[in-house]
Amino acid sequence: MTKHVPATRTKRKATVDMQRKASVRGAFTLVEIMIVVAIIGLLAAVAIPNVVSQRKKAQLQACKLNMKTFKMVKGQWALEQKKSDTDVPTDADIFGLDKYIEKKPDCPAGGTYTLGAVAEQPNCSIHGTAE
Ligand SMILES: [Zn+2]
Repeated sequence: MTKHVPATRTKRKATVDMQRKASVRGAFTLVEIMIVVAIIGLLAAVAIPNVVSQRKKAQLQACKLNMKTFKMVKGQWALEQKKSDTDVPTDADIFGLDKYIEKKPDCPAGGTYTLGAVAEQPNCSIHGTAE
């Protein structure tokens, strides 16, 4: 003769087992936390160099745009002042409230600009010429 266990008793035992498992599962284990930290570290390692290179790219583009503007303004200055290709404008000829550009722009990376002669490309001490 086999021992008969009532169905309600089996169900109650299963419910107790599930509750115990749920309470153990409630907290993260050290390994789980370490995996999450490792994934965050991996994502940061991929993203941070990208952000740095994009910033440098934007600085270069802004600097080149400044130098293209200098080149155009030098041509305009030479035309209006009847200067030749070898004449070199000073900052006072180009920049000022009543001049071609109100304020001399700065290189976003901190370089200094050399205007050069009318026919020459303006130069940045960090980025070189716009060409
Ligand atoms: Zn520059």
